[in-house]
Amino acid sequence: MNNKEALVVFSGGQDSTTCLFWALKHFEKVHTITFYYGQKHSLEIEMARSIAEDAGVDFHLEDVSFIGSLGSNSLTDTSIVMDSEKPSDTFPNTFVPGRNLFFLSIAAVYARERGIRHIVTGVSQTDFSGYPDCRDAFVKSLNVTLNLAMDDQFVIHTPLMWLDKAQTWEMADRLGVLELVRRKTLTCYNGIPGDGCGHCPACRLRNDGLDRYINSVEYRKLI
Ligand code: ZN
Repeated sequence: MNNKEALVVFSGGQDSTTCLFWALKHFEKVHTITFYYGQKHSLEIEMARSIAEDAGVDFHLEDVSFIGSLGSNSLTDTSIVMDSEKPSDTFPNTFVPGRNLFFLSIAAVYARERGIRHIVTGVSQTDFSGYPDCRDAFVKSLNVTLNLAMDDQFVIHTPLMWLDKAQTWEMADRLGVLELVRRKTLTCYNGIPGDGCGHCPACRLRNDGLDRYINSVEYRKLI
């Protein structure tokens, strides 16, 4: 397997776009794989394609819409109103069960067929939602399972695992792509690119992180 190439699980959102540029810094050749899982906003996929083109990396779109049809969640079902707060006893209804399990498993097969050892994903344990398949223990466990499943030595990288949103903006800034990430990515649950609608949970998290990062930079200029 090739140690110099990486495959980024890429959605065109803030986190995976930051990971794409992190990968471009650390690997000689970078590929992206984007999943269509029945998400309401297909604009997300077009933005991902456009960012990949601008970055000069391969873009591969894989249709995994069966994931959305296995159960119900507010990212793929237009009849379900999205939770604006995290319920105290369960996950928000934006949770797509098994999503990262499927994504990373399919990404690993795709990578193996192309001899790519390194897989990069933008999951974060510090994210507000507490999705179980964004946790470090899950990713490490799946990495072992994938290696056993295919008798290979994949390395799954999670550059954002322990970062909050302000620190993710800081990473984008250090990589020289803060403005690109701010303008060209789509994180908003209502499908509005860039700074988004401003009031959905994804926008609040993203915009609050940006405010905190900018304030910390301004503060550092003062001292
Ligand atoms: Zn929004």
